[in-house]
Amino acid sequence: MEIKILKGAEEIGGNCIQISLGDQSIFLDAGIPLSEIENSNPELIDFESIKKDTNILAIFLSHAHADHYGSLKNVSNIPIYMGEPSLNILKTVQLFYDKGINLENVKTFKDKEEIKCGPFTVIPYLIDHSVYDAHAFYITDGNKSIFYTADIRFTGRKRYMTKNLYKELPKIDVLLAEGTNIASSDDKRMNEEDLIPEMVDFIKGTEGLSLIAFSSINIDRLVTAYKAALKAGREILTDLYTLEILRNINNENIPNGTWDKVHLFLNYSQKSKVKKDKLFDILEPYRKHRIYHDDVKGNPQKYVLFYKGSYQSILEENHLFDKSSLIYSMWRGYFEKDKIQKSIKTYNIPYKFIHISGHTSKKDLEEFINHINPEVIIPVHTANPEEFESFEKVKILKNGEVMEV
Ligand SMILES: [Zn+2]
Ligand SMILES: [Zn+2]
Repeated sequence: MEIKILKGAEEIGGNCIQISLGDQSIFLDAGIPLSEIENSNPELIDFESIKKDTNILAIFLSHAHADHYGSLKNVSNIPIYMGEPSLNILKTVQLFYDKGINLENVKTFKDKEEIKCGPFTVIPYLIDHSVYDAHAFYITDGNKSIFYTADIRFTGRKRYMTKNLYKELPKIDVLLAEGTNIASSDDKRMNEEDLIPEMVDFIKGTEGLSLIAFSSINIDRLVTAYKAALKAGREILTDLYTLEILRNINNENIPNGTWDKVHLFLNYSQKSKVKKDKLFDILEPYRKHRIYHDDVKGNPQKYVLFYKGSYQSILEENHLFDKSSLIYSMWRGYFEKDKIQKSIKTYNIPYKFIHISGHTSKKDLEEFINHINPEVIIPVHTANPEEFESFEKVKILKNGEVMEV
């Protein structure tokens, strides 16, 4: 087999890895780099020209983050494999934000299902990451084997799954390992559940509405925020998009809009979207628990709002930023650029950064590598591939460089 990293060898995200044998290829992910996600016209992987050189059998999508799927926008006539919840997440993203992918050619897989694809066998493994339904992939041609971690962590609610993964894996020749956090020190080692008491304390110290900002598809964090809110004696207000994500992932153990203390609090942009696209049906399951701004205005201390920028005007008009507080529960890089900065200054909102990363620390990665003992390690999804040199048997590939397995 041959491995070629088209993108993601020298940057965070944008992963697209070609595995070929003769004139046949499969691709692992097809994203756009994190640095280009805000760009309205990012450079996408051009699968139409790649088709001239190789027969593309399939693209395997590890999870529903745009730095892994963003380049799939204009792909046609290529089967795209992903988990069923990921497909449902992307359908919801498509409905609300229209920036997903062409989903016509999607085939879904289950955890550990063997997929035969030309000369390749691919096995997806469900892993722990900051999005629901993330997978790593094992690929073999019957002779050699490759394992692609995709984005992985050992500190979330599925950490035991990831920690014990090595016990299930066959012999690995080449490990494609993510290195987002490879250059950061992990002095403060925390698991997802450790965020709950910190959040509870902060919410309890808030007189008005409590705001928590996080990604709607980071279901681990949503559960953390939900538990913290209830422990602090409050109920949840959230938007229609988040409730639809929760309905579509269809897991009865995860909070959703039919639970007593979870309420729809519609913001203006979603209200007009419902009207414009006649989406009245999707409001139906949430009608019983819907909360209007007058209710919140009267009792802001009763609620935790899962905050999005789209709430800005409704909060301002109803003076709900007064005595509010904000927990920022996403990557610090987003916080620095977030529009919420302006409101923080204007309304003097107290805030706290309560977050752990969706990516492995160097120490956890090292432990995983020691267990699976691959012949070669290739860094991906990292701005610091040279940091891998402290491991043995590392081969640093540049974007576009080919390695024979
Ligand atoms: Zn990523
Ligand atoms: Zn990711």
